[in-house]
Amino acid sequence: MPIKNLLGLSRLAKPLTSEEGRRILERDQYRCQYCGLDGQSNFENSLIMTVDFVLPRAQKGKKTAENLVTACRPCNTIKGRRVFANLEEAKAYVLQRREALHKDWEKETARLKTRTAAT
Ligand SMILES: [Zn+2]
Repeated sequence: MPIKNLLGLSRLAKPLTSEEGRRILERDQYRCQYCGLDGQSNFENSLIMTVDFVLPRAQKGKKTAENLVTACRPCNTIKGRRVFANLEEAKAYVLQRREALHKDWEKETARLKTRTAAT
């Protein structure tokens, strides 16, 4: 499938070969292991799929299947280089941050809408 060549793995997960990255993506069925976004459901989603080091490389995280998960770029960015005891803890943090960001976004869009309506 040509989609595999569009996943930007070489840039985002440098130490992984595209073959190693593809194995992780296929194992996870191209689904973000944090928020559940489905990279196979549409083209836009496929473009933002990355492979995340659960324990960051900067913290000596290994390039093993257990330490690698499929993650969409927003979740990967939110998680950053934070260190968690395991994937479950990382996931709890990412989902909580997403929820907070979602609430901020709702407030902001509501504010913009009232402003637009007032003019
Ligand atoms: Zn995600």
